Amino acid sequence: MRKITVSVLLDHKPVSIFRKWLVKRKIRKDIAYASSKFSKEFLIQFSIIEFVDWGACIDSEVLDRDNAMRQIIAKRSGCSGDIILAFTDKSIFNVKNLQVCVGAAASNGGCVVIKLRRHSRFVLIHELGHLFGAEHTDEISVMDKYDPGTPDFDEENKQIIFSNRNRKF
Ligand SMILES: [Zn+2]
Repeated sequence: MRKITVSVLLDHKPVSIFRKWLVKRKIRKDIAYASSKFSKEFLIQFSIIEFVDWGACIDSEVLDRDNAMRQIIAKRSGCSGDIILAFTDKSIFNVKNLQVCVGAAASNGGCVVIKLRRHSRFVLIHELGHLFGAEHTDEISVMDKYDPGTPDFDEENKQIIFSNRNRKF
């Protein structure tokens, strides 16, 4: 089993301690869900090692995707996890194609950013897939670009991820 430790960056306005507790609980559940999926399919496990406050951009309701990714990668040296999963309640905007997205991954940096939503666990599996080289597909797959409406990977991406399962971060 490949064991990967995760630093969770949390960009969330702490409206109340209870709300913050709920958000952390949801993130724990989502990562546990993704971890059980990856351990069954690819013998890869994810475990949270720490929660770190991110405080991405206080004045804006929108995150520029590339800026956010640079910020996250810059935090890597201060984090102890093998990878960083950053969660935000802001919209993520991709300047290149002028689209709002719900998640993004920097495969080389070992970093992912996800917009917190009720159904973000499929997006989390999608972005973790990118970290192991998975690509977008038109097959029915969690790697569908527009609608990862299933937690399952298509056969081609399964093979890609399995062959990259020991990649370094
Ligand atoms: Zn994608």
